[in-house]
Amino acid sequence: MFFHHKYGTKNFILGLHDPYPFQCPNCSKLGTVEFTITGEYFHFWYIPCYPVEKDGIASCSECEFRVNTIKYNRITADEFRQIKNKYRFPFYTYTGIAIFLSPVIAGVILYLFK
Ligand SMILES: [Zn+2]
Repeated sequence: MFFHHKYGTKNFILGLHDPYPFQCPNCSKLGTVEFTITGEYFHFWYIPCYPVEKDGIASCSECEFRVNTIKYNRITADEFRQIKNKYRFPFYTYTGIAIFLSPVIAGVILYLFK
């Protein structure tokens, strides 16, 4: 019925990154490009289950330049590869998998301490 609305993926902002020195590939100004790093997680009944992937949008404050990872050129792709590792998924995005695994973890603990 409404089941298909109850799960899916959700995007959220992981952080903003101001690369320096970084020259806008479009207008060639320095320090005007900002990366918005976004994360995506899978949710079930609006409970975050597990993180899916990171993405990023680079945008320039001085011109129309605005690209996502699909349209990155080599320079923006290199920059993004470095910065995306600095932004980790918050723990709550693992809630579903943690709940799912908790009987397993409990079992392992019981096994180790029996
Ligand atoms: Zn620009």
